[in-house]
Amino acid sequence: GAAIRLVGVSKSYGGVEAIRSLDLDLARGESVALLGPNGAGKSTTIGMMVGLVTADRGRVQVAGTSPRTAVARGAIAAMLQDTGFMGGVTVAELVGFAASIYPRSLAVGRAIDLAGLIGLERRRVDRLSGGQAQRLRFAIAVVADPEILILDEPTRALDVQARAEFWEAMRAFAATGRTLVFATHYLDEVDGNASRVVVLANGSIVGDGRPDEIRRRT
Ligand code: ADP
Ligand code: ADP
Repeated sequence: GAAIRLVGVSKSYGGVEAIRSLDLDLARGESVALLGPNGAGKSTTIGMMVGLVTADRGRVQVAGTSPRTAVARGAIAAMLQDTGFMGGVTVAELVGFAASIYPRSLAVGRAIDLAGLIGLERRRVDRLSGGQAQRLRFAIAVVADPEILILDEPTRALDVQARAEFWEAMRAFAATGRTLVFATHYLDEVDGNASRVVVLANGSIVGDGRPDEIRRRT
């Protein structure tokens, strides 16, 4: 079955049509980039996949069920655009807290390893660099051991080195046969990280193909 299916989905905010009658089928094991400029509808699409945004029309299915059920089961987890971490807890404590929320979870040490945070277990979460904090957000999502991982502009505000380390962690996750969906407005993040690119503009899909096919047309 499909990992994620959107059928005839529309969403408006007041008078603004953010998503216009979108149809999208994502297969299990795909690494999909949602590519588009600011305002294209990437965050709205991702919000619908994880049950944070309700469609006005159409149907959204995740892992064969509704988005909220899929989240509650730990079948899908998201790393959304986020503010900083507050408080004096450590990396290991916060990942452990996240693990305790889910019905099934990875060992805390495994999530920390996948996120490239080994050696930082006892670091306070409010003392992390931007790149380390972003990898902590990944650890908190991946500790749910989800089939599907959603990332909204995950490398925003990261420097070149932190971006490279982040994508290394993502490729390791995708190599385990999981489904990865990430929003980006950087075409150069698509090569090597996505098997499929869905191009959004003004709430509609204007391109869908392999990275090399999309690159030839842009
Ligand atoms: P899977 O690929 O997960 O096995 P199915 O093709 O069996 O999924 O479809 C799952 C559900 O979605 C079914 O109820 C099917 O009728 C419905 N469905 C599939 N494609 C469409 C579509 N294009 N429009 C409306 N409903 C659809
Ligand atoms: P992207 O993630 O590609 O930048 P968004 O999904 O955030 O796109 O936004 C799509 C459109 O919907 C934009 O015109 C944006 O201004 C509008 N929009 C998004 N969220 C809201 C909101 N909460 N209230 C009003 N308008 C919104």
